[in-house]
Amino acid sequence: MDLSIQQVLKKYFGYSEFKPGQEDIINNTLQGRESLGIIPTGGGKSLCYQIPALLLPGISVVVSPLIALMKDQVDALNNLGVPATYISSALTPQEIQRRLQQTSQGEYKLLYAAPERLTSEYFSGLAKKIKISMIAIDEAHCVSQWGHDFRLSYAAIAPWIAAMPYRPVITAFTATASDRVREDIIRLLSLDNPSVHLIGFDRPNLHFTVIKGTDKKKFLEEYITTHAHQSGIIYAATRKEVDSIYTYLKSWGIKAGRYHAGLSIEERNQSQEAFLYDEIKVIVASNAFGLGIDKSNVRYVIHHNMPRNLESYYQEAGRAGRDGEKGECILLYSAADIQTQKFLIEQTTSSEERKEEEYSKMQTMIDYCHTTRCLRHSILEYFGEKDLPENCGSCANCTQAYESRDMTIEAQKIFSCIKRMNQQYGINLVASVLKGSQNKRIRQLKLDQLSTYGIMNDMTIAAISDLINILAAEDYIYTTGGQYPVVRLGPKAVPVLRSQARVILRMPPRPEKAQGDSQLFQALCVLRQEIAKKEQVPPYVIFHDLTLREMSARLPVDHNSMLAINGVGEIKMQKYGQLFMDIIHPFTLEDTTSSSIPDIDISTPEKEPKQPSHMISWELYQAGSTISEIAKQRKLTNLTVQDHILRCAREGFTLDWREIVSEEEEACILEAVQRVGSEKLKPIKEALPEGISYYAIKAVICKLELSKPGAPGAAGEE
Ligand code: ADP
Ligand code: MG
Ligand code: ZN
Repeated sequence: MDLSIQQVLKKYFGYSEFKPGQEDIINNTLQGRESLGIIPTGGGKSLCYQIPALLLPGISVVVSPLIALMKDQVDALNNLGVPATYISSALTPQEIQRRLQQTSQGEYKLLYAAPERLTSEYFSGLAKKIKISMIAIDEAHCVSQWGHDFRLSYAAIAPWIAAMPYRPVITAFTATASDRVREDIIRLLSLDNPSVHLIGFDRPNLHFTVIKGTDKKKFLEEYITTHAHQSGIIYAATRKEVDSIYTYLKSWGIKAGRYHAGLSIEERNQSQEAFLYDEIKVIVASNAFGLGIDKSNVRYVIHHNMPRNLESYYQEAGRAGRDGEKGECILLYSAADIQTQKFLIEQTTSSEERKEEEYSKMQTMIDYCHTTRCLRHSILEYFGEKDLPENCGSCANCTQAYESRDMTIEAQKIFSCIKRMNQQYGINLVASVLKGSQNKRIRQLKLDQLSTYGIMNDMTIAAISDLINILAAEDYIYTTGGQYPVVRLGPKAVPVLRSQARVILRMPPRPEKAQGDSQLFQALCVLRQEIAKKEQVPPYVIFHDLTLREMSARLPVDHNSMLAINGVGEIKMQKYGQLFMDIIHPFTLEDTTSSSIPDIDISTPEKEPKQPSHMISWELYQAGSTISEIAKQRKLTNLTVQDHILRCAREGFTLDWREIVSEEEEACILEAVQRVGSEKLKPIKEALPEGISYYAIKAVICKLELSKPGAPGAAGEE
């Protein structure tokens, strides 16, 4: 042993300092003491066995569950000049034989093996041929049924070790911290009086956010496109969902991979490698992905669905920011996620006792999604950390503009309703009764006769449910376990009901009024949905969201400007152009950008077959009618007529620009265009002093384009 462990760290791995726990575990191992390292994902477990392996005589065996991971680590080690190899079922028997042969001749310091390989006859005699100094068991929680990743093959590890002619030093590693799993690991792997190293679970560089009630697809699209240069993982609850998100991403032009257990091993490996090597930035995956994934520059992990429990969540989210740089962990929650998880629990769990455990873990997860306290605190407290600060100052709950609101009255209504319903029903039914829903079940159960029926009818059922969940997360009420949990009052609710205590909750800020833009966007989505249904294709086949969003920003109401929208080609223009323009028309009315859909009848303009519509407007305009007069006369909107006029200008008719825009205004607009570009009107409008109309802006852009030879159309490729 010439080199110290510090020297090995520097020489082979290039690091100058150990991470917490590493040094102790390595020293222990070198002295022959067995150990269990409970170290969060990214905490550097691999080094804890790789360094002793280099220093101990003979060979060390690393038991690891994932073939792709083993190959990766072995490649990395070889790269660092460490002789290592692996055996797995992916290799031919001849190759396995060859590698074991070389191993027994002392050519390697580390041998990685999948647990199911250990029992093979090749393997059993190895300990006699060469000194096995250490056995490291990675992802050791796989041995426990109480962990979240149980693998039967891990049961073979202890008997295999017991059958050896001598006992190597055993080390085991996991990121799962629960007491139960820890006990299982020690017992089921027969660790001999191990020293247990529980390393702090805090990952200060991770930023946690829970987002409720958002359009998840839209969120993903926006997030991924605005973080296009960063690597990220999108986790979804089911294979089906993974596939559908994957399809969406592709339709948005995002290069992505997917990973779930229903895909062929080739496709899975391909996706994983492409992701690891940064050929793709985004991978959509089920929870099958990532056990031990050692990609250090993952910048964000988005959970498209609530995962089953906090253990899984923290482990998966923890794959962000392993390099210590900032990592974003976002959970998109919707109530439907609970149903999915229940279904999965029912599908995959047979023992009743186990189910109860799963449901209670899931409840903790639901509480996490609803808590208004520090998210980091919630996680770390759950993992048993002590002496935590109340606020981390960096998670979404700590940084969001939450406002403290007195919710005593609402809470009293909810508590008294729960009481009157005899504490026998779930959150949804309680919320429905408070709302005064006409639900058949409510009538059958005569719950509509309760005095609390309909007393919260000014809120939506979803908002009431949310509030109930928040009250549960704050321990005023609790839900019983099982598949159909029932809400009950907790001791904290009693003084509230008696008006002896108030309920002050940190509530998210009240949502701002929807903007006109998004209303149009929604209207366009509805139309798209209808067409998609008729044509029996998914909506994005008609137009991508991005295209609809651009339409709602640029308000195209004629052929050219519609064609200029990204995603609208000739064929789609022919098939759908008019339908979408019909929806857009009413939104182009000046000064109505933030109002609701005006009730103008756009379906009945009389057919005017002889002459193109814009030409009719033009002639009236030339004859001296104003825009509004033409609009009134032709039952069109002002904006449509304006577009007609500009279109004619584009087509070569001479227009008196000064009638539309003054010299001064034009200069202003040109200056704004220079600053914010001419792709979108809204930013230009916002950059201008009040009182300059969209019409003036459009006219200036039109004029500008006409001054560029051979460059018609306002479209810029984005
Ligand atoms: P775990 O298995 O605990 O999730 P890994 O062993 O894969 O974590 O290590 C996570 C990352 O941290 C790897 O990129 C590894 O190279 C790096 N790392 C490990 N130890 C150190 C150290 N002492 N200093 C700096 N980086 C380290
Ligand atoms: Mg690891
Ligand atoms: Zn916080």
